[in-house]
Amino acid sequence: MSSPSLEYRIPRERMVREQIAGRGVTDKAVLRAMGEVPRHLFVPEALAATAYDDRALPIGHGQTISQPYVVALMCSLLEPGPGLSVLEVGTGSGYQAAVLHALGMTVFTVERLRPLYLEARERFGRMGLHTVRTLLSDGTLGWPDMGPFDRIIVAAGGPGIPEALTEQLADGGILVIPAGRRRGEQHLMRVTRRGRNFDMRDCGPVAFVDLVGSYGWSGQAGAV
Ligand code: SAH
Repeated sequence: MSSPSLEYRIPRERMVREQIAGRGVTDKAVLRAMGEVPRHLFVPEALAATAYDDRALPIGHGQTISQPYVVALMCSLLEPGPGLSVLEVGTGSGYQAAVLHALGMTVFTVERLRPLYLEARERFGRMGLHTVRTLLSDGTLGWPDMGPFDRIIVAAGGPGIPEALTEQLADGGILVIPAGRRRGEQHLMRVTRRGRNFDMRDCGPVAFVDLVGSYGWSGQAGAV
């Protein structure tokens, strides 16, 4: 087999050019990271050929890997930078975490569904992403032992902005989270912490799977 970074290189470059740069994401580091991470290794094998399509894909257990543009948009709203710590809520396939890692960030990622958590851990190991720290837990509570974080990114949509997350945001830190009172319909919110104040910016409508937990929608079977 050829190197995973060379496989699907052409569709990956096209994805970056047409879906991401073409829609106005200009952050060069984000474009570079999205061009490096082999997205096809984060989807079920049968879907590898569609990994670079302009859409979210199922990853099992009723969850999805986000559309490439949404991953890139969230990363750029986060104002990423090498050496910054980032908490991700909703590991899923591990793709977004791998992109954050490729941006040189110190990644902490939390997933509530055991099979996805285990699969992502195995994938990180196989791909040599040994510095990505993983936790099986309700991420709406954050990761108190590891905070505060310079950045927090939430990959699922809840009814509001969990207080535990704003509390674990470092001063000057940025939180990017989809929030909305109706399931499956959210607005992407960017929250910047200035001391005890939180500046909020609405970055437009999005549709994410449910954020389930203490500060999310109420639970369902199969969780921790
Ligand atoms: N970032 C992922 C997207 C996964 S979809 C990727 O790149 O593939 C969102 C994920 O959030 C799902 O795996 C879901 O199980 C998880 N999730 C939902 N509520 C959660 C919670 N309270 N804590 C941790 N993970 C949660």
